[in-house]
Amino acid sequence: MTAMRYKRILLKVSGEVLMGDTPFGIDMNTVAAVAGDVKQIAEAGVELCLVIGGGNIFRGLAGAAKGMDRANADYMGMLATVMNALAMQDALEHIGVSTRVQSAIPMPTVCEPLIRRRAERHLEKGRVVIFAAGTGNPYFTTDSGAALRAAEMNCDALFKGTSVDGVYTADPKKDPAAKRFDRLTYHDVLAKDLKVMDASAISLMRENGIPIVVFSIRERGNLMKVLQGEGVHTVIA
Ligand code: UDP
Repeated sequence: MTAMRYKRILLKVSGEVLMGDTPFGIDMNTVAAVAGDVKQIAEAGVELCLVIGGGNIFRGLAGAAKGMDRANADYMGMLATVMNALAMQDALEHIGVSTRVQSAIPMPTVCEPLIRRRAERHLEKGRVVIFAAGTGNPYFTTDSGAALRAAEMNCDALFKGTSVDGVYTADPKKDPAAKRFDRLTYHDVLAKDLKVMDASAISLMRENGIPIVVFSIRERGNLMKVLQGEGVHTVIA
């Protein structure tokens, strides 16, 4: 087997990916499919942190646009990420992958609170750690949460699984002439305002020298391929 490029990664999956082809919420077949890909790399010995968004259920900005207090709406968004984390935990444990969910908003009846040293121990024991509730703070996104956890857990890379197979000059779904980049610098992404992740997430990865790998998580088996340096993807470093 081709060697893995990274020993420990953080995989960020947006909530929208979990909708599959449904218009809202959690499509359990899609969650199971993503879990299958995660199992493949966990079994290959990669230490894995997971962050899942909440956009398939609730986004703070959407609530604020309808007149809600922004912070309250953001807390609802963070709670949505906990639901997604529990769905992913369930799917992973169904196929024999040991997991722990840690929430940045403590809810001990449901999952562990965020404790970095405990998360470290879980990873050493081969468990997949799912970090829920983003950063725990309103006015942030799960992209920033993913970057923060990638840095504090000393991950070798941040993998961003999306419905597109990399970073393009324009939205490839709208512009057929859009071209995919193989490699970009953090500076390119910020200067060209490419829609990859929030600027705060990109800056944190730049400061800590953690590469970002953007790839399509919709294609089964792609996560493993990209980890081996194959498959279609964009690296930002
Ligand atoms: N959120 C937040 N702070 C965080 C992470 C998330 O307030 O640290 C809220 C925010 O309202 C956001 C929602 O949770 O809209 C869902 O997260 P996100 O939009 O990042 O999910 P994704 O787009 O990845 O599905």
